[in-house]
Amino acid sequence: MGAPLFDRVALIGVGLIGSSLAHALRRHGLAGHIAGHARSRRTRERVVELGLVDSIHDGAAGAVGGADLVMICVPVGAYAEIAAAIAPALAQGAIVSDVGSVKQAAIRDIAPHLPAGVALVPGHPVAGTEHSGPEAGFAGLFEGRWCILTPLPNGDPAALARMTWLWERAGSKVETMTADHHDLVLAITSHIPHLIAYTIVGTATDLEEHLQGEVIKYSAGGFRDFTRIAASDPIMWRDIFLNNREAVLEVLGRLHEDIAILQRAIRVGDGTTLENHFIRTRAIRRGVIAAKQA
Ligand code: NAP
Repeated sequence: MGAPLFDRVALIGVGLIGSSLAHALRRHGLAGHIAGHARSRRTRERVVELGLVDSIHDGAAGAVGGADLVMICVPVGAYAEIAAAIAPALAQGAIVSDVGSVKQAAIRDIAPHLPAGVALVPGHPVAGTEHSGPEAGFAGLFEGRWCILTPLPNGDPAALARMTWLWERAGSKVETMTADHHDLVLAITSHIPHLIAYTIVGTATDLEEHLQGEVIKYSAGGFRDFTRIAASDPIMWRDIFLNNREAVLEVLGRLHEDIAILQRAIRVGDGTTLENHFIRTRAIRRGVIAAKQA
């Protein structure tokens, strides 16, 4: 297996993504030592029971001391507070990276706190499930999935190369792009689909009582797929919408226009518009399957 890529990796947050990373680091021998920090005592105890880390710390600063890689794996809304807490304890030459689903806000909230001699390489593994917490993680989560890195224009190329290698060793395919491009692409592919799922499941919940039972009973008609997505972590998703506001509102505006077109087609009985639209969307599904992202 050779020498580990990093001597000491600090995981700040050990939920679904942090614990999956811990599994992947171990499986592929990528870290000499894994230090973990989680906010609550309950999570820290579970992390130890599950054997995910070599040391557990109740303060974020305690976990990052001597680390050559610090991975921030908490909801995006907690980034500024975490970055301020770890900054004084960061080792010279360390890389700070993250897994957050929004990248401009990640840079906004982390970069100002970092001392000179510490490299920031923001990242986002486009992989996940609707489950949360340290029990939910597994090493294979990142296999065959994309990991998007959004390096800063003046970023350290050597740090970017090491992070690319880490994600590739974890089984991911790595792409680099600017943070603003990332946020727009993810608004379309992830954030708006989640918003639609949260909306439709909420609408069904507000139905009259006698209809609610039917919704569950006949959910295989399509509704159940939305319930899976709408079961995703509420805090994480609150933070995504609050921190990717512009891109989400931009895509939402377009969605409103397209819904209005379909709404009109239904009202006036315009089958051609409906059929042409559905032919186009079916082709997208085939593309997703062909790209092995289904
Ligand atoms: P998770 O399972 O809910 O775990 C979150 C972790 O962060 C827990 O260890 C939690 O500790 C800790 N935490 C939460 N708030 C904190 C705070 N204010 N200060 C310190 N620690 C805090 O979440 P996750 O799914 O792993 O998501 C983590 C990050 O990955 C998010 O930024 C998310 O956008 C990104 N991401 C998620 C997915 C996905 O599908 N879930 C996919 C890609 C990227 P306690 O348990 O002690 O509260």
